[in-house]
Amino acid sequence: MSVHLILHFVVPALLAGVAYPKKWLFAFMVMMSTMLVDLDHLLADPVYDPGRCSIGFHPLHGFIPIAIYGVLCFPARTRLIGLGLMIHMILDSIDCQVTNGVWFI
Ligand SMILES: [Zn+2]
Repeated sequence: MSVHLILHFVVPALLAGVAYPKKWLFAFMVMMSTMLVDLDHLLADPVYDPGRCSIGFHPLHGFIPIAIYGVLCFPARTRLIGLGLMIHMILDSIDCQVTNGVWFI
């Protein structure tokens, strides 16, 4: 398993433990559910390409969706979903930087 994939679990787990100590499991599960945004990879061919930068490529990894994820961080009832999605996009972007030398395409 790659460092990138491990971070997709570790970062939400740490945030859940630090910011939501009383309901960390719930917070963690909600943030994990945002991994479903990677379903947009199924629209691409090939479905998974480790050398491809997902930010700006896949429909749910575009700039308008990312702006919406940012807005979701503000209302309390959508905050965990927004945080999970923003963490996901930031980690994907870091992965682009590590593998391709760019933050997005
Ligand atoms: Zn992704």
